[in-house]
Amino acid sequence: MSKNIVIIGGGITGLCSAYYLQKEGHQVTVLDQSDMESGASHVNAGYITPSHFISLAAPGMITKGIKWMFNSASPFYVKPRLDMDFINWTLAFKKSATKAKVEKSISAIKNINLFSRELYEDLKQSADFNFHYERKGLLMCYKSDQVGEEEWHVGQRGIQEGLGVKNLSAKEVQELEPHANLNVKGAVYYDCDAHMTPNYFMKDMLAYLKANGVVFHKNETVIDLAFSNNKITEVITDQRMLQPDQVILAAGSWSPLVSKKLGIKIPIQAGKGYRVNVNRETNITIPAILCEAKVAVTPMDGFTRFAGTMEIAGINNAINPKRVDAIATAAKNYYNGLEITSEEKELAQCGLRPCSPDGLPYIGKSSKCENLIIATGHAMMGWSLGPATGKLVSEMVSDKKVSLDMSYYHPDRKF
Ligand SMILES: Cc1cc2nc3c(=O)[nH]c(=O)nc-3n(C[C@H](O)[C@H](O)[C@H](O)COP(=O)(O)OP(=O)(O)OC[C@H]3O[C@@H](n4cnc5c(N)ncnc54)[C@H](O)[C@@H]3O)c2cc1C
Repeated sequence: MSKNIVIIGGGITGLCSAYYLQKEGHQVTVLDQSDMESGASHVNAGYITPSHFISLAAPGMITKGIKWMFNSASPFYVKPRLDMDFINWTLAFKKSATKAKVEKSISAIKNINLFSRELYEDLKQSADFNFHYERKGLLMCYKSDQVGEEEWHVGQRGIQEGLGVKNLSAKEVQELEPHANLNVKGAVYYDCDAHMTPNYFMKDMLAYLKANGVVFHKNETVIDLAFSNNKITEVITDQRMLQPDQVILAAGSWSPLVSKKLGIKIPIQAGKGYRVNVNRETNITIPAILCEAKVAVTPMDGFTRFAGTMEIAGINNAINPKRVDAIATAAKNYYNGLEITSEEKELAQCGLRPCSPDGLPYIGKSSKCENLIIATGHAMMGWSLGPATGKLVSEMVSDKKVSLDMSYYHPDRKF
């Protein structure tokens, strides 16, 4: 039965949900408080990431976080705040950062990534789209033996999970990426990863959805939700009131602000990241993570993107030039002769990753509301998981058999 659906949020999660829902024959309206041309879904590194099967909440991250708190150029920064949501999130992160919990989440993270990669490949095959998508894998480049050993330890775990992973010497990296002039000791190479140019996909998807009857209200903020008998009866924006059968909450880092209107707590903290684009030849052809610096490098369609930092400091879009400089310094340190100019740095942009404390997204229904599906909390993998999330949302709305075991992603889960 066709339903009247409102999606709050037009990032990658909202657009992919709209895509699969309209394919199922539902009437879809997307609301977004922005012009839908900026933010996390536009500035990200475009990785499709089966390789990222270890959650951010891993043992050792708390110690690193405390150490890096005092370094304004560090790639991971947590700003301490006397705010109950932040304090509870930090406690939940600490509880999740155990070896046993990380082990338990590996297959859940890997499976949803592989499912999503398959869906991206289906979309790429379809006549409706013409976006950039390449499957060239990912190089985890390192400069120190210690980091190399840590990365290979993870890589071996990946092999156990059935992923294609190799430990490459500096010479082998050079053979794979002959003209990029990499200055590294070696790299762990994952052949399972792919990459894209996010802005182009977002444009393509938006055009497809508009042409296929999805209604968009941009620059319109959801300010309230009317609720009765365990159901949302009205979605109230600063410009109109809608009465949908079903609501999808895909508001990224802002999702907890919206769900609070229903008394539903979604533990999410915004994790700010930056991107710098280099619109000239870099000779980089394979995506790489510069491990010590935690910078992601992506050869996109016509330019190279350098992305990094995870700044847990609330919802704000201020650019910290020291962190942009740190990304540029990393680029120079890992690629001989690659100088990011001050003009390129001035054009840096940022976005907010919606981070759950255990590194798993929230996809599903809260027991507190019958006609709401929550689809958020994808942190560093939101781009990768867009199609999988959208497909799972549409299966749930359409009462179909759901493709994955959803218990891992339950929005009511306890930490
Ligand atoms: C620098 C950087 C690099 C990254 N690299 C990768 C990568 O390589 N691979 C990967 O998988 N992921 C990556 N990510 C993470 C990924 O970008 C995010 O997880 C993903 O974009 C989140 O998408 P989303 O649609 O859930 O949220 P968003 O993109 O944040 O979209 C949410 C939307 O909701 C709207 N909204 C919020 N509140 C309201 C309201 N009240 N009313 C109306 N609209 C509202 C917002 O305006 C926004 O447009 C990266 C992120 C960053 C910042």
